[in-house]
Amino acid sequence: MRGVKTQNVKYRAVTPLKLMNFLFPPFCPGCQVYLGLKASPRQLCRECAMALRQSAENHTRQQRGPHPIDLRWSMAGYRDEPLATLIHKLKYHRKDWIIEALEPFIEKCTADIKWNSMVDAIVPVPLHPSRLRRRGFNQAEIIALAVSRQCGLPVLKNMLARAKATKAQKNIKDPSARRLNVKNAFKAMPPVKEIRRILLVDDVSTTGATLKECALALEAAGAQKIHAFTLAH
Ligand SMILES: [Zn+2]
Repeated sequence: MRGVKTQNVKYRAVTPLKLMNFLFPPFCPGCQVYLGLKASPRQLCRECAMALRQSAENHTRQQRGPHPIDLRWSMAGYRDEPLATLIHKLKYHRKDWIIEALEPFIEKCTADIKWNSMVDAIVPVPLHPSRLRRRGFNQAEIIALAVSRQCGLPVLKNMLARAKATKAQKNIKDPSARRLNVKNAFKAMPPVKEIRRILLVDDVSTTGATLKECALALEAAGAQKIHAFTLAH
């Protein structure tokens, strides 16, 4: 091996992560700050993580209704940042991986809720099939799956269905027009015997009109207790 000098040469290790981050620089999905070469993909910057943690600590509380929903919880106000930006990207920019960044906060804000003794199954608010085709995924379903990973309850994604296509609630300002938009918009399969207590899950609920209509459909099909969890409220 004469002439080959390898023993004293120090190579600077280029890990696959650094290489990927060099080729595709990672930015925080909450505020667009550059995260650096060593950042794990799909993570929030320190400031956004802290703001989200504070939101979850300050905001998560048990509230009543609206009837027939018994109890409801949410992680933050629907205008709170960075959650508002993250939900927007999750839904409208096809960034379903954002749920991975949100999962530790969902875990934190739901850790003290005894869902296993209150609920038999989790049901996501469904999208109309035409919107599901366009978006490629149902954000309520991936949030429901994240909640399921915390508490172990099953997700029943076919228990509720959209009976009609509705306008996006966010484009309707008047609360009574929102109620009218989703009136009778859902139909529910009758729950099987062991599943009478449902946790409804959605991304955002402002007036609560969509959750209420979902709960009415579930109640009409035989559900006995309905609770709700949303990321923002
Ligand atoms: Zn950030």
